[in-house]
Amino acid sequence: MSETEVKEFVRPTVEVNTYKKANPLKAKVLENRILFREGDENDVRHIVLDAREMNYLDGQSVGVLPPGLNEKGNPHAVRLYSIASLASRIEGSENLTLCVKRAITKDEATGQVYRGVASNFLCDAKPGDEITLTGPAGRKFALPITEDINRPYIFIATGTGIAPFRGFLQRLFKHTPGFNAPVYLLFGVKTKAELLYHEEFIQYTQPNFLYLKALSREMKNASGGRYYVGDLIHDHGGKLWPVIHDERSIIYMCGLKGMEAGVSGAINALAKQNGAGDDYYAKLEHRIVEEVY
Ligand SMILES: Cc1cc2nc3c(=O)[nH]c(=O)nc-3n(C[C@H](O)[C@H](O)[C@H](O)COP(=O)(O)OP(=O)(O)OC[C@H]3O[C@@H](n4cnc5c(N)ncnc54)[C@H](O)[C@@H]3O)c2cc1C
Repeated sequence: MSETEVKEFVRPTVEVNTYKKANPLKAKVLENRILFREGDENDVRHIVLDAREMNYLDGQSVGVLPPGLNEKGNPHAVRLYSIASLASRIEGSENLTLCVKRAITKDEATGQVYRGVASNFLCDAKPGDEITLTGPAGRKFALPITEDINRPYIFIATGTGIAPFRGFLQRLFKHTPGFNAPVYLLFGVKTKAELLYHEEFIQYTQPNFLYLKALSREMKNASGGRYYVGDLIHDHGGKLWPVIHDERSIIYMCGLKGMEAGVSGAINALAKQNGAGDDYYAKLEHRIVEEVY
């Protein structure tokens, strides 16, 4: 095999739902710190749980069963959260980490405030508190089984969608000896202050790592509008196109529902500009991995 040959994208076999509603894992909170805060209640938290006995991979999610009952008197439904740390079985990995945005909705007409059940429970949890978990969940959001040192990656995140990429970056840059292919991280948030894990990502000084930020409220796109991850693809097309067009690369997307429209539009436009025809995004389906919520 030549040095640049890369194996087919085969996902690892993963365990799912080892812990279910009927036999959940009770995990203690080890750490709960603020990653971003604006005003009194708009925060995103880095929450570490003592849950190493669960066999999970970076990229998978866990279910959280909030205590209490819903308005119908039934136990609350499970809410999923992406794992923001490395696989539990990798030596030296930190414990199960979540990156949680507190969900609060205000009805502007009535002034009524609705607090999301699970996210508020998690964001308010103190070290030593017990969290009831199910999982792990998800088979598709995973790096390939063979960690090819020549496979390029594009990671596109919005908001807390950055969570799985934190583990992926640790795996590629700290646990894959000789890895030297391009890794492009495209991260979209509203303001610079919201760039979760920014201090950690700027520590990756490898020449093959490109970290691009789209700050929708602080940057303007070519048409004078708000700046999103699709605009990064447009503005950095010269660097991104060879990686997008490389049949070996995998493009992962995680975050807000609706981000795919901007990404696919920008990739289609870039492809057309590079003579790759119309509707190019549809041809990439086999190497696009998406998780939006
Ligand atoms: C695969 C997957 C991975 C995910 N990963 C993450 C992650 O890493 N980090 C993260 O923060 N989230 C993640 N989520 C989202 C998460 O699962 C929850 O959906 C989110 O935290 C909100 O749950 P909640 O229980 O706090 O809100 P809920 O109680 O479910 O309420 C949902 C929303 O509705 C509002 N609301 C409630 N009642 C009313 C009402 N009567 N009228 C109007 N509005 C109302 C709440 O304020 C809230 O914004 C993920 C989701 C999926 C599917």
